[in-house]
Amino acid sequence: MQKEMLIQKSKELLWLPFTQMQDYEADPLVIEKGEGVMLYDTEGKSYYDGYSSLWLNVHGHKKKELDDAIKAQLDKVAHTTLLGAANRPAIELAERLVQLTPEKLKRVFYSDSGAEAVEIGLKIAFQYWRNKGFHEKTKFVTVTNGYHGDTVGAISVGAVDIFHTTYKPLMFDSYKIPFPTIYRNEVVDHKEIRDQSLYELEKVLSGNGQEIAAVIMEGMVQGAGGMHIMPEGYLKGVERLCKEYDVLLIVDEVATGFGRTGKMFAVEHEEVEPDIMMIAKGITGGYLPIAATMTTEKIYDAFYADYTELKTFFHGHSYTGNQLGCAVALANLDIFEKDHVIEDVEKKAAFVREQLNSLKSLSHVGDIRQLGLMIGIELVADKQSKQPFPWTKRVGYQTTLKMRELGMLSRPLGDTIVFMPPYASSYEDLKAMIAIMEQAIMEVTSKLSVST
Ligand SMILES: *Cc1c(COP(=O)(O)O)cnc(C)c1O
Repeated sequence: MQKEMLIQKSKELLWLPFTQMQDYEADPLVIEKGEGVMLYDTEGKSYYDGYSSLWLNVHGHKKKELDDAIKAQLDKVAHTTLLGAANRPAIELAERLVQLTPEKLKRVFYSDSGAEAVEIGLKIAFQYWRNKGFHEKTKFVTVTNGYHGDTVGAISVGAVDIFHTTYKPLMFDSYKIPFPTIYRNEVVDHKEIRDQSLYELEKVLSGNGQEIAAVIMEGMVQGAGGMHIMPEGYLKGVERLCKEYDVLLIVDEVATGFGRTGKMFAVEHEEVEPDIMMIAKGITGGYLPIAATMTTEKIYDAFYADYTELKTFFHGHSYTGNQLGCAVALANLDIFEKDHVIEDVEKKAAFVREQLNSLKSLSHVGDIRQLGLMIGIELVADKQSKQPFPWTKRVGYQTTLKMRELGMLSRPLGDTIVFMPPYASSYEDLKAMIAIMEQAIMEVTSKLSVST
């Protein structure tokens, strides 16, 4: 198809996720190829992949070892079902995942996306208690501003108003506790913010623990909720309370897993061991849709019984445990080991932190939040009062459009600019991306200041 035709047909035929198609029509983009940390559109224009193709990519595009792993697997078989049958790469990957994740996690239930991994985790937690005879433990505790994917179960434990309010009548009820947000908190002391939030959790657990199946939250960083980082000791405190009140702890590491925060998994920052953990995004290096829900052996045991007891976990997806996906995930983990990727992320994160200092002084940069290579830059109308821009001005969106013009792709979270570079970005790449963000922020916000 001719490139003009591709753009035309993309407007006529596609319905893109999380996209107002009116915006897309005004600024269409068709990506044709990638190489390393660069993406190329059908016009041949190049862009830095500043959001790792939506928080997935790790070692860059067209990484030879990953390409080869898929080709080698393709010579054997592309896909066979995991319903009642296993396959070699799924087993080998499960062994690696059990080794890499916290000690307690011993079982791997595969699926194809983060949201599915979350649905599975919720259903497992719910059925775990039922299988053990605790039929009243049916509720979940979630934190404000949490995000766990877009299926109905996942949005029921999510709390990003702009995404979720519409579907409220469809959702099941959860207990919501306040996330210990630091920016715009009138309390300044991080310990006090942490303790207040833990106190709110304890209130819910002590009052309603008997009907609560699990507490679910993201690991250390709320991603889609705006890149908010938990104060030190918070997640550890949550783990302690979950044990004390006998509820399961579910940690969603879909965004934070596989080195993104500078540790293989974010729970390692606090030596937390969840009962259930979801992983996806970076698991295949950003190549193919594989996700997993990891659980303890104790949970698994509650499902192990004679068939007629009806304790089986009745859940599965057609492409679960896809062999190509598991094969590329294995090759991805090999690179982590061989190239000491985690140490590399730590070094690059420190470099980025230093480079981002130049953005701090900009008059509309309200806050820069960073853990590892997971970064949010929040733009505000007034730095002193932390007053946001009117949301209808879409300053974040305008800024990423300007960045795109300057040769870098990302997507904002409201007025928070997301910077999630592939770990494979060189120091030069990182510097260039930060320069583009700086220029875009300056151009967009200076125009706004004049017009308001
Ligand atoms: C992206 C994300 C999900 C959803 O994953 P999908 O693969 O997009 O369904 C779930 N939880 C968190 C924390 C995420 O960032």
